[in-house]
Amino acid sequence: MHTPLCRHAVGEPTELAAQAVARGLTEIGFSDHSPMPRDDFDEWRMKASDLDAYVAKVEQARRDHPGLIIKLALEVDYLPGGEDWIRELAGRHPWDYFIGAVHYVSDSWEIDNPAKISRWKDRDPMEVWTVYFDRLTMAAETGLFDIIAHADLPKKFGFYPKQDCTPLFTRFLQAAKDHGLAIELNTAGLRKECKEIYPSPAIVRLARQMDIPITFASDAHAPEEVGMGFADAIQLARNAGYTRSCRYRNRQREEVEL
Ligand SMILES: [Zn+2]
Ligand SMILES: [Zn+2]
Repeated sequence: MHTPLCRHAVGEPTELAAQAVARGLTEIGFSDHSPMPRDDFDEWRMKASDLDAYVAKVEQARRDHPGLIIKLALEVDYLPGGEDWIRELAGRHPWDYFIGAVHYVSDSWEIDNPAKISRWKDRDPMEVWTVYFDRLTMAAETGLFDIIAHADLPKKFGFYPKQDCTPLFTRFLQAAKDHGLAIELNTAGLRKECKEIYPSPAIVRLARQMDIPITFASDAHAPEEVGMGFADAIQLARNAGYTRSCRYRNRQREEVEL
């Protein structure tokens, strides 16, 4: 879940935590968009100087809601060459998990940014999906993450390739498997044009066959989005054959019954 520090979310961590309690959740995690080495990289993440304030806000939410387990995490953008910065971030606070995310297929195009949707119209969807999954596979291979975010994000606006993408999915999932990563079932997709959880049922089935662990994410950017769509996500997991999901503490995985 996100916080106003990323400049495109509303609701302080303590407000999201209150909503989680009201909805009967027993554990949540904050994983706001991590800073980049340069604060002017884009406008939709916290600044490096905000990191301590971010941790303090999550700690405040813990104090305000002692009956709720609240994990401290980051959604970390992966760009090739950014590994040293990610290692540095990892050492700064006692994180429970790092979610590795690919949004950028080049240094200037984040494929999920509505302000840049016109770029999709000049490109072959298969070309974009291929670059995206290449980068997602590289992210998994770095070994710097615990979970991979919204694995088929390129579907967000509905630009699907005509070709079969199974080889792209399989190669990524094999990298996730080899490096002990989980994938998240992220319900934000239900709120976007694609109207489908990330990733698709086909990818979730492949992940199950390869015995890759899963987590659940609402990717909330506002209090009303906390836990949104979880019944659908659990059904998706069960339909694919999952009987367990996982959670993290101090970057160690624990499995729990679904
Ligand atoms: Zn966001
Ligand atoms: Zn994301």
